[in-house]
Order: sequence, then C-alpha cells, then structure tokens
Amino acid sequence: MASQTQRKVPVAHTITTIGGTPPQEAMVDKIVKAFTITPEYLEEITQHFLSEMKKGLNEEDQTIAMIPSFVEGRLTGEEVGQFLALDLGGTNLRVVLVDLQGRGNFTTKSTKYKVSDSLKTGDVKDLYNFIADCIDSFLTEHNLDYGTADIHLGYTFSFPVYQSKINRGLQKQWTKGFNCSGAIGKDPVILLQDALAKKHVPVLVSALVNDTVGTLLSNAYSKPDTNAGIIFGTGSNGAYIEKMSSIKKWKGGPTSSDEMIINMEFGAFDNERVVLPVTPWDNKLDRESINPHKQIFEKMISGMYLGEIARNVLLELVDRTLLFEGYSSKELNSQWGFETTYMSTIEADQGDSLKETHRVLSSSLNIPKVSEVDCRIVKRVCDLVGTRAARLAAAAIAGIARQSSSVQNGCDIGIDGSLYEFYPSFEQRIEQGLVELFPDVPDINKRIRLGLAKDGSGVGAALCACVAKKMAERRPSV
Ligand code: ADP
Ligand code: MG
Repeated sequence: MASQTQRKVPVAHTITTIGGTPPQEAMVDKIVKAFTITPEYLEEITQHFLSEMKKGLNEEDQTIAMIPSFVEGRLTGEEVGQFLALDLGGTNLRVVLVDLQGRGNFTTKSTKYKVSDSLKTGDVKDLYNFIADCIDSFLTEHNLDYGTADIHLGYTFSFPVYQSKINRGLQKQWTKGFNCSGAIGKDPVILLQDALAKKHVPVLVSALVNDTVGTLLSNAYSKPDTNAGIIFGTGSNGAYIEKMSSIKKWKGGPTSSDEMIINMEFGAFDNERVVLPVTPWDNKLDRESINPHKQIFEKMISGMYLGEIARNVLLELVDRTLLFEGYSSKELNSQWGFETTYMSTIEADQGDSLKETHRVLSSSLNIPKVSEVDCRIVKRVCDLVGTRAARLAAAAIAGIARQSSSVQNGCDIGIDGSLYEFYPSFEQRIEQGLVELFPDVPDINKRIRLGLAKDGSGVGAALCACVAKKMAERRPSV
C-alpha cells in the first residue's frame, strides 16, 4: 500500500444568478463582498502570515507558535518494523498497527473508538484510562504479544504542546471541542504512560507527534522532496522543514542535522485580527465557541466550523425574511446544526432545479418551505464560505513555500483531512490562490505539488516512533 491514494472529488458548481427580489439581491451582494478575498488582499494576508512565522521562529510565545518538533533531518526510506500509533485530537480516537516495509511501503490495521463528549470535557485521568483500555483491547484483538519487549508507540497528539524532546512535552491548551481538566501544563506522554502502566499494557510511548509532523513524515516516506505536512480536517495546522540557523529562538543545543521539522500551530494566526476578513458571522461563531478569541484562522478554514459560519449567514437571511419566507427549523436553529458535509453536497449540486440542495434543506434540516431562489442563495453562501476557506489555506501554503524557498526547486506538500479530501474543488481553489500569489511563476502548481497524504497520523507517527527508537538505541540515556 502506498501513502498516496487516487481520489475522485466532485467539482463545485458555482452559480452566478440568484434571480431574487431586490432586497434579496442586495443582501447577497453584501455577503459576497464580506467573503471575497481579492488577489491583492490575499497577498497582504500572505505577507502578514510570513512575518508572523518569522516572529515565531525568533521568539517564544508568539501568535504562530512555530514549535520545534525535535524531529531532526529527513527520513532515509530505510525505516522498517512494526509500530503502534495512537491518534487523539480528531473526530475519533484511533489505534493503528503499522508495518513499515521501507521506501514508502507499509501496511496498517486500525480500530476507531468514539470519545464521548463527557470524556472530552471531564477529568483528563478518565480520558487516559479510557485510552489505555482501548490500546489494551486493540492488542488483544490483533493478538499482539511481543514477549518481554514493549511495542513502541508514536502518539499523535493534535493539540498545542511545548515539545522538549521527541517523547516529552507540556500541553499548552485544548482546541477543537476538547476541554479536559488537569491536562494543561502536563506531559501527555507521561499521562498516557502512567495509565498504561497501571493496567500493565506492554507499550512504550516513544514519540509525541503532532499530526502535521506525522503527515509530513508519511508523505516524505515515499516522496523525498516533501517539505510540509498540512491538515485541513476538524481543525487546521501545518508543519514544514526549517533550517536550524533560521530557528533563532532555539536553545536546545547541538543537533544531529541542520534541519528540523517545525509544528507551526498556524490555527492561531491573526488572533489579533490585524488582517483577516473576520465577518460578524465569524464573530458570532467565535463568541459561542468554547475557545472565544482563539484559533481565529482555524475557525475560518476548518471542517468543524465552515457549516456553522454558513448557518450564521443563513439565519441572518431568515431573520430579515429574505430566506425560507422567514421560517427556520429546530435543526437550523441549533448550534452546529448545519454540517460542513451538507456544504459539500450543496456545492457539488448542479443543474437548474438544485435537487440535492432542496433535499438537504427540506429533509435533513426540516425547513418547511424551500423555493428555488432559496436553494440558489444557500448554494451561493456555501460557495463563498468554502472558497474563502480554500483561499486562506493558500495564503498559509504560500507563506510556507516562501519561507523555505522551495518554489524554485519544487516541493511536495502532503495534506490530510476530510475537507481537503472530500470538499468539492477545495484543492482547485487553493491552487487558484497559489496562481494569484505567484504571478511570476507560470507553473506554480507543478512546483508546489499538493497531494493527499492519507493516514499521516498513523504511518507518520509510526515513522516518528521508529526514528525515536533508533535515537534511543544510539543514545541509551535519551
Ligand atoms: P480529523 O481532523 O478529526 O482527524 P477529518 O479529517 O475526517 O478528521 O475531519 C473531520 C471534519 O471534516 C469534520 O469537521 C467534518 O465536518 C468534516 N467533513 C467530513 N467529511 C466531509 C465532507 N465530505 N465534506 C466536508 N467536510 C467534511
Ligand atoms: Mg485527522
């Protein structure tokens, strides 16, 4: 199995004519203005992104944290063996057994476990006891018995962490709907290792991996020119390979390579709201979220939030009696009630009657009366929210490409996450943004090569555990 899979994503079908009443048309124009990012504005955002990256490399505690991952240098392609990977921070908890066979080849077996809302917001000890039970039952299920040797596990922990070693770090904060007590300022590796030890589960947590770092590694396993790994899923973040000499804040002493992977934590970009086109509908989402004022960039570009932004816009239209004759529904009135997957369905809908859009609105959302004009307005709103997200994503990718001077030589960028994988035209809209941001590079989409890096959090974490194991064997004190 290769890390790269072929996929067929539907294209978005854009509509230009609404055919509504003058007040409807006027309001749609206003919404279009609020969500449109011109090429010049996109350039401005990119420049600010780049200068914030540099700040994060120069000093601690900057808005884009630019966290050194302690993963030094590049993969050799010779990484082999059986490793476990654990993925916490997405929609599900996942345990994966990875058999690395070298040069981009591997097999995986995995099981998903649902993390309940009460575990996501309760005492962190309960969360880790649950995780240890999941790992234990996974080992039993797959008959994994290594005798006396512990199985090495790479722990993909997709929350901001101050990393201090490849297997040590302190959690900075929660994001994406998690908010457990007793975790901030603690080491997630120790919390996990303690819970495993209590239950006598023979697993050694040998690497703490951000999912973006894992995505980069898994992409690099088969594509040596990879220089970044990015997630557009529930949340958004990226990692890339930086020269040690540019990490001015580094105080970690000599390293075995002159390069290190940086976990950017770019979801916090422009929390100060200097440059981003934050609308009242974004502010409403932010205010009602469990982390107000934080992760503003993430909230404008990620799967967890796009539907909610669109919902806020639609409700304003309803309240102005410009949509659905002024009637909403219990579903549309509920926070998170308009799922980002609905947007995918609506964006892919084509033809004059917009049947699928009508079905989502009347069946999934129980809106009592839906006209064709209503369908067109909703489709336009989804287009605007989805396009803005992809263009902002392009600004981040351009920032990384400029910082690492990878445009001239070309580079691969591994991207994971359902938004990138399934949202209609998300990739094409990013590519269009890159074309505008690099007007002097005619073949920019051949130089910055985006590709789906599926299962970065599994294979990438296993690769990281493999690197860590080799480091530990070389230096027993690590
Ligand atoms: P995670 O980031 O949690 O590891 P994913 O990459 O699968 O997991 O992202 C999940 C997010 O993507 C959810 O917020 C969900 O709403 C969104 N999502 C899932 N499928 C689709 C789809 N087909 N279209 C748009 N968004 C989707
Ligand atoms: Mg994920």
